[in-house]
Amino acid sequence: MTAIQPHQKAKALKPGSRRPAKELCSECGLCDTHYIHYVKDACAFLNQQVAELEEQTHGRSRQLDQPDDVYFGVHDSMMAARRTEPIEGAQWTGIVSTIAIEMLNRGLVEGVIVCAKHRGGSLPTAARDCPHPGRNPSGTGE
Ligand code: SF4
Repeated sequence: MTAIQPHQKAKALKPGSRRPAKELCSECGLCDTHYIHYVKDACAFLNQQVAELEEQTHGRSRQLDQPDDVYFGVHDSMMAARRTEPIEGAQWTGIVSTIAIEMLNRGLVEGVIVCAKHRGGSLPTAARDCPHPGRNPSGTGE
């Protein structure tokens, strides 16, 4: 397992503030958190590094002549799945949350990033355990 290093923090932008990426901003939520400290490196619209990160993470960048690679990103295969018994309040059926919970419970991952409800919006949050098995880690939708 990888040791998680403490993060640098900075003051989050106030709601409605102009974002560093200006009109390109997709409102990903990073600038609403203390992690805005990393915006120059992390924002895909300020620092175009997708091909390098794909290479680093997956061992190759997406193949631009493959429509599924262009649309979905680097992948080995794709499949469709849904829960036969949907989680109450889930965005669809809760399949993504179910996979995340199973990976946490089996110790296959150190944490998952979920969207927690925050001030009428969403806040990217690291979930390290699931206090209510059968429900999603954040208590929100998928
Ligand atoms: S990091 Fe996210 S919120 Fe901040 S400018 Fe980029 S896209 Fe917008």
